[in-house]
Amino acid sequence: MKWEDLRRSKNVQDRRGQNNQSGRTSSNPRGRGGGTNRSSGGLLNLLLPLLMSSGGGKWILIIILALGLFGGGFGLFDGVLDQSSNNQVIQTTTNQQTVNTDDLASDEELDFLAAVLGFTEDYWTQTFENYDMVYEPTSLVVYTAGTPTGGCGYGDSAAGPFYCPADQTIYIDMDFYHQLATRYQAPGDFAMAYVLAHEVGHHVQNLTGIMDEYNSARRGASENTANELNVRLELQADYFAGAWANYVQDHGLLEIGDLEEAMQAAYAVGDDTLQEAAYGRVVPDSFTHGTSQQRQNWFYRGFEYGDFEHSDTFSGSIDI
Ligand SMILES: [Zn+2]
Repeated sequence: MKWEDLRRSKNVQDRRGQNNQSGRTSSNPRGRGGGTNRSSGGLLNLLLPLLMSSGGGKWILIIILALGLFGGGFGLFDGVLDQSSNNQVIQTTTNQQTVNTDDLASDEELDFLAAVLGFTEDYWTQTFENYDMVYEPTSLVVYTAGTPTGGCGYGDSAAGPFYCPADQTIYIDMDFYHQLATRYQAPGDFAMAYVLAHEVGHHVQNLTGIMDEYNSARRGASENTANELNVRLELQADYFAGAWANYVQDHGLLEIGDLEEAMQAAYAVGDDTLQEAAYGRVVPDSFTHGTSQQRQNWFYRGFEYGDFEHSDTFSGSIDI
């Protein structure tokens, strides 16, 4: 992506290297509220055999609720199902006072995120104006190791990037930036641009009331239905990321290979791909973000149309 000449967003907070572990306990990483069977980090890792057996999910849910681990954030993927991330939870917990300076992202990477965020602001400001709405930008907090949020619990590397509706802020652990290229095998600057644009997509859902409708629909729903709604919400965030990529192309800023980088990232964070890698099997009823194919399809659909009109992931089939 040709980003160097773009303005930088002013809505970026740099918390790299800050070791703010206050309030942190080993069994209480940031919980995310979207799914019914997600995000108790290392704890859930221990309980996962229960979850994977039939009927176990109910007990996991009860345990998670009892521990108050729900935080209400929306991530790029379900960190719970990423075993390597869970190992990291344990690791960072035992080394609470240590900040690994190797994890510090370079200033250029931070600069890139500020440029991407600024360009999402330009796109969504214009798009909202087309519908007589006003876009209020989200904030981005970049951190290393862990950081408190304004209403979504504690953010840490096990969570992956996420958006917290309570404080309308995106949190990105800069270590993920590097993991994307290595562990998730999705290298390239536009892979990371997709990640940030996806989280901005959640902010758009928040501003437009889609997230409220989603929350209402989930109330009283069965676990499977709740998961399905979660998938639909996530696929729409992928669509919005694609719509922004269309705007990037319109401005002549897309470089050869960029689209493929984003598509590879969308593939890498599909539920089936993550589960297969972590456990060697997939449990479709537990999907919360969509398969690799679905995530690619909705991102690409956003890229093709670049509008609001084709973004409805809530009616009809999600297999397009
Ligand atoms: Zn998401």
